[in-house]
Amino acid sequence: MKLTPRDRKLVVAATRARKHCYAPYSRFGVGAALELEGGTIVTGVNVENCSYGLTVCAERNALTTAVGKGLLPGKFTALAVVTEADAVVSPCGACRQVLAEFGAPDTRVVMHNLKSGETQLTTLGALLPHSFTPLSLPR
Ligand SMILES: [Zn+2]
Repeated sequence: MKLTPRDRKLVVAATRARKHCYAPYSRFGVGAALELEGGTIVTGVNVENCSYGLTVCAERNALTTAVGKGLLPGKFTALAVVTEADAVVSPCGACRQVLAEFGAPDTRVVMHNLKSGETQLTTLGALLPHSFTPLSLPR
């Protein structure tokens, strides 16, 4: 896959959002940007807590913000995640599961590293194959 202008726009939005992360313990700042159907972009940052287990990732913060703006399952089209680590970073397992509830398997995921300038592209389906979805529940 190749970066599209929309992917680049998402990376810029995630990079801008990342400046507002709250990561005093790990110093691992993350910015995320979701593209909703229609082109609206919603951002999120990681928010740590002194009770470490209460930390919430940037991806889930972006998603919950989008849900608060009316996002319905299947209605986000792309995600960008931006970090400044030693390598490109992908969403954690918890975020992959939460994202899979609202995105399709072919939803684009753009992972950008500010330190190296490297960008990798993948999809939600590649990050979480055989995911547990609402269809997995008994009816
Ligand atoms: Zn996460």
